[in-house]
Amino acid sequence: MIDNFDWLTPENYGKPVIPEKEPPLVVLALETLNNAEDQVLRDWIKKVFPNILDYFSLKPAKGMSLEAAKELAVNAKPDKKEKTINTLVEHKDQSLAVHLLNAAVGGWTLVKLANLEELQQRLYLAAVTLHDLNKIVLKELGNARMDGKEWDKYYHYFNIWAESLGLWKFISNEYWQDIAFLSQNAEDARGANLTLANFQDIKLSPEDLIGLAEFVRFADLLASMAHHPDSLYQEKIRAIVRRRLKDKYVIRHHRTIENRGLLTQTIHNAVLDKAREIGWIAFLFFPDGITYFAPKDSEKPDLSNLAEIVRSQILKTAEKGLNRLIYRQPKGIISCKPDMKEVADVERASETLIKQLFNILGDKRNPVTGERREKIRSIPELANLDWNYPANLQVDRLAEGVRGLVDILKEYYGVTEDQAIQSLLNALDMNEYLETLKRIPALGGVPHGWYFLAGHYMKKHGSLNDAQLEDKMLKAIHQVITERGKPEGITAFAFLDSYIAQVLDISDSDKKHDFEKELNRYHRNKANRKREPICAVCNSAFDVREEFSSYTNKRVTSLSKESLRGICTVCQAEKLLRSYSLNRGLEADDDIIYLHLYPDYYFTPETAIIMNRAYKIFAQNVFSDLDKELAKHNYDPKYIPRTDVFRVGADSKENEKRRIEKVEYPEGQMQGYYLLGVPALFKKPTDTEVWHIPALLTLIAPLTFGVKVVASRSTLPPYDSGADFKETAILDGVHTYWQHSIKQSSFRLDELITAIPAAFAVYALTSQAYRSKNFPVWNALNNVSQSLDTSPLYVFHYADRILENIKKEERKKKATQLSDPAIIVAKKLLNYYQLLIDYYQGDDPMNMIRELVDKYARFYRASGKNSSAYTRLRPLNIAAKVILESQPNTAEDDLQLMIEGYLFSLVDGVLNNNNEGYIPSEVVKDKSQRETVIQDFSQYFVKEVFQNYCRAERSLLRQNINLIRHAAEAWYIKQYIKKPEEKTQKSENKESN
Ligand SMILES: [Zn+2]
Repeated sequence: MIDNFDWLTPENYGKPVIPEKEPPLVVLALETLNNAEDQVLRDWIKKVFPNILDYFSLKPAKGMSLEAAKELAVNAKPDKKEKTINTLVEHKDQSLAVHLLNAAVGGWTLVKLANLEELQQRLYLAAVTLHDLNKIVLKELGNARMDGKEWDKYYHYFNIWAESLGLWKFISNEYWQDIAFLSQNAEDARGANLTLANFQDIKLSPEDLIGLAEFVRFADLLASMAHHPDSLYQEKIRAIVRRRLKDKYVIRHHRTIENRGLLTQTIHNAVLDKAREIGWIAFLFFPDGITYFAPKDSEKPDLSNLAEIVRSQILKTAEKGLNRLIYRQPKGIISCKPDMKEVADVERASETLIKQLFNILGDKRNPVTGERREKIRSIPELANLDWNYPANLQVDRLAEGVRGLVDILKEYYGVTEDQAIQSLLNALDMNEYLETLKRIPALGGVPHGWYFLAGHYMKKHGSLNDAQLEDKMLKAIHQVITERGKPEGITAFAFLDSYIAQVLDISDSDKKHDFEKELNRYHRNKANRKREPICAVCNSAFDVREEFSSYTNKRVTSLSKESLRGICTVCQAEKLLRSYSLNRGLEADDDIIYLHLYPDYYFTPETAIIMNRAYKIFAQNVFSDLDKELAKHNYDPKYIPRTDVFRVGADSKENEKRRIEKVEYPEGQMQGYYLLGVPALFKKPTDTEVWHIPALLTLIAPLTFGVKVVASRSTLPPYDSGADFKETAILDGVHTYWQHSIKQSSFRLDELITAIPAAFAVYALTSQAYRSKNFPVWNALNNVSQSLDTSPLYVFHYADRILENIKKEERKKKATQLSDPAIIVAKKLLNYYQLLIDYYQGDDPMNMIRELVDKYARFYRASGKNSSAYTRLRPLNIAAKVILESQPNTAEDDLQLMIEGYLFSLVDGVLNNNNEGYIPSEVVKDKSQRETVIQDFSQYFVKEVFQNYCRAERSLLRQNINLIRHAAEAWYIKQYIKKPEEKTQKSENKESN
């Protein structure tokens, strides 16, 4: 284990964030932590944790980007530098905030099992809070302990941070030495500080403190090491458990080798139930399993009927959707979709069909029996039949219902049509109609015979109300089923037995079972053998079958038998679970992006419940909501832990309108992974419109909820676990607009610090420049992003559009005009530009623009605040015009002289009142200075703008000049308009002239 964080820079953590709003995570925690035994934890979350979120949400405790790693390793010894950098980059992301939370709640189960008293609980949480003090102020502290010369130094920072984190509101500071002792003995890496002489003023007995330190140590070990359910079998962890729980409990786990989403979660919860039955206590939840405290001598849970439990859970989920599996073709054919046989036995299928009959052929429908009778009775060979029978809706229902039941019998029993019909007629006591039924042809596919039969049945039984009719049909089918017995050979999801045996491991060690390799080899081998079918969804070869007809997966290129592309039984089960608890299949849909939320790296019983609650409330924000919260903080991600990304605190009725597609998990289940579908809020959305919100949420949700997020069109979890990818946020297959403007699609934690403001800048720019009916036109993200890709100066290109939109809006609202919208827009754009440059980290052409403008502003400015762009940019325009109109072979010096000439006459013109404008007083008075500054500007334009920026190509200058003008104008407006001295100086001008 590498747990040396010498690289973590403290830098400047900045001033504490002003707590405008409780962080959603804190609100949720306070709502859910209601058990008496969690009261101390609750108090810590209330008083200390918000500060932890404010300070440490963006501080890597583990992995980071290459850039950040290089910066940190800058002082490392040359021989170790590369290794240090590699280690930092290879570590998986985890913020210090999440690390501290995971440690505190991770060890909480141990604290509760050990029955620690309230004071000890408080000391434990306080010590966890500060156990990484050396990392927090690394530059100053290094590996310092409260020992010898370093005693004061450590104490100094200890006190500062205890105060800043609100620790003395949580525990009396008379215990500070106890806490200092505990937090310095939480890990090996920096060496312990067990010398009691260093702690003259401890309140607890040394023995108690040394015992308590083990809990803090346990917490830190968990938070650092627990990437998978089987990560905790190291001796040092086991030893702590043995000692602290007096040999009563051991650590156990169960793990699956893959995470397919809902099916895997169903398996986890089935195992969890079984484990609880024998007294196992779950304490870490992962996407791929659960870690437990198990009573020392307990057996393994009895998993012999696990497949049966999972099966019945799937079927229970499916029951909600059985009705949707019945459909009718206009000819009068009511049938079951093929899925029915997978999820319902013959009895449930028949009952569902009969029940749906009354919905499909509702009371408002016109009966068809009469009309259909007229079509067929004229056939000569049928003329002698008795066509005299009632024709009403009940006859329709009976006819189409019984015909549907015939199909069910054929499907479930594998009997012939004749056999099925015979059984049913027998049960209806209509045997004598068998021959007639066969004689009447199904012209055009319409089951004419059945209307005839049903008509005669009604004639015989008189009118039946709905309940009576339903009862007759139910009785008939039940009689047939009783006579025939349960159909053979149908076990729904028969694959579950072998599948679970292959993927599930339950064990008390981290000995690697070979399942994984075997399964992979199995898949590879199968795949290699030609013509073995491969699952169209998951690419596995696990018992692949032909597609259901109702299934249309985009990735299936052809459904013909030749293509051998079906979906496997595992995917079929997953698909089924989704269609009933998410109303979506496994196929990627055009209108939705899935956010896969992974814990970083585990949830505990407490955080799992918090996430459960959050997940249930989640609703969709639109950009303006997020912008409203963050624009006032200039999109500084430090404020994001307090941003309500998914409207957790919003009005629930309002939230209902902002749908997000979520799995309806059965009550009481615990999850280590969440699937969130974010549908576009438009009809027929473009790819850009579909992506625009999910992409943004993916960047900010990790900071609000302490999770890792992968956004994808893929419905299957792209990774088995959060420990399988280093990054904090991944956009899988994001639309190209994002690639143009944000340029990368996966983000380390530290990269979010600049990526989030940059993304908001692009969105804010787009939403103000392109509006229709006062809504942003998000498709314009494409234009804007492509322009920005060409040059970030394109930000200023949108000034006119934005101004126009503001004016339009003001006209509509008849609002009072903004005092000077041009200045506001210029400042905004300069800000967006800066946010992008901070992120891009490349050349900053704005330096050139600023210098250019500042240089000419020394000898010329537009007069008055109602100046036009033309007058503001005059020297710039003159210089550009000179070069553009010059001969290609003109020497550099000559260009400069020509520009100077024009500028002198411009200035003279203003001074003589022939030109509009204003000349700053210094250059009015001092002619030689006038010459100097004009030369300076002209030289700068020729050298920097033309030679350097445009590579001395006139065509490039022509191409870029508008870009330069727009940027220059923004800078000019911000710097030079509305300067109060302007007016007074103006009068001076004239006088001195
Ligand atoms: Zn599959």
